[in-house]
Amino acid sequence: MGEIKIDKVIKSHRKTIALVITQDSALVVRAPFFTPLEYIQKLIEKKRFWINKKQEEIRKRPIVKPKEFVSGEGFLFLGKSYKLEIMDDLLTDIELQDTLRISRTRLPVAKETLIAWYKERALEKIKERCEWYARLIGYKPTSVKITGAKRRWGSCGPRGTLNFSWRLIMTPLEVVDYVVVHELVHLKEKSHAKRFWNKVRAILYDYKKREKWLKENKAAVIL
Ligand SMILES: [Zn+2]
Repeated sequence: MGEIKIDKVIKSHRKTIALVITQDSALVVRAPFFTPLEYIQKLIEKKRFWINKKQEEIRKRPIVKPKEFVSGEGFLFLGKSYKLEIMDDLLTDIELQDTLRISRTRLPVAKETLIAWYKERALEKIKERCEWYARLIGYKPTSVKITGAKRRWGSCGPRGTLNFSWRLIMTPLEVVDYVVVHELVHLKEKSHAKRFWNKVRAILYDYKKREKWLKENKAAVIL
């Protein structure tokens, strides 16, 4: 077993020790003044498994750069990456074939154009999945809307309205379905109590795997 490297120790007036793994997977120890170094080292040895796991998780994350809208750049649609192709003779603004084609005339507003396109596709697909699962489980929303939410995949309004972020259309269909089922079950069960999760599991037995995908890939689902 190799030694665990402490990247930084920050001493202050705090009373307890905290171990923090930063976004670039560095180990930072926050400790009270006068904490002996041996004490910190012992604690780190004890927490070795947790530290390694956290650092590994961060290292495995895909590196996400802001989009440049250049030829060949990858864009997600239903969990699959499509290469961007800039077209001179496209009749619509955007077209999805084996590549994601965008009209050259739209390049100055490429981001806005693509978001508008994602929103339309998201509404179509999510409405379709809501109808399918609503028939299956018997709860029907009063309306389905698409939002620009960055952190919330879906929400359930007080009058039975369901909202979904357009970013969901970038995730695999089984993940879209999980969020749809999650919100549909909220029509009957408001809180995340045991009854709620039992109902979700009865419809999607592997919902945890789908939920995990969302947690691990949220950085990739941006524009
Ligand atoms: Zn919920």
